[in-house]
Amino acid sequence: MPARPPDAAHRPYPGHRRYRYVGPEELRAAVRPGAAGRAIRTAGDLDGWAAERTAELAEPVTFVVDPQGTLRVAPRRSEHVACAGGGQVLSAGEMRFARVAGRWTVAEVSNQSTGYCPDPASWPAVAAALDRAGIGRPAGFTHVVVFRRCAECQERAIVHDGDFVCVFCGGALPVAWNVDPEPPDGP
Ligand SMILES: [Zn+2]
Repeated sequence: MPARPPDAAHRPYPGHRRYRYVGPEELRAAVRPGAAGRAIRTAGDLDGWAAERTAELAEPVTFVVDPQGTLRVAPRRSEHVACAGGGQVLSAGEMRFARVAGRWTVAEVSNQSTGYCPDPASWPAVAAALDRAGIGRPAGFTHVVVFRRCAECQERAIVHDGDFVCVFCGGALPVAWNVDPEPPDGP
């Protein structure tokens, strides 16, 4: 049985895997200190962000859930690693907000992040962050992406239509998530 990290007791979500950035190093190197995505801890935080970005909120935005369990958002096409301030995440993807009956609600959400390649099993971290902020949400990712690392060519591949074959080299992809060979919290 693996030893628990010393800070495990202080984590809000000790059961969630933390995902390290696995994308191109130059994107991480370009992250400026203090430039992480906007923290959305309440619906009011989203009001403030929306007031500044009215046009963009009609489209999906970049999001991560940081290791403290806080939702962070950034304009569409922002790099996830920048939204995360270069750090680890509990989940990442794209999210579209809508106003439903006077309340902010997530209309669409995916785990589409090639920088972190989070497993669909990261959903509970997203749900918890939205619930704490008082933002409505669906029961799960509305668009699910299945990431794997190809053992043959080492590329990060996406499984399409349940076909576990690497699109780059034709190699077989494993059934279990394997994108980060040494995930920080272990499986
Ligand atoms: Zn391959």
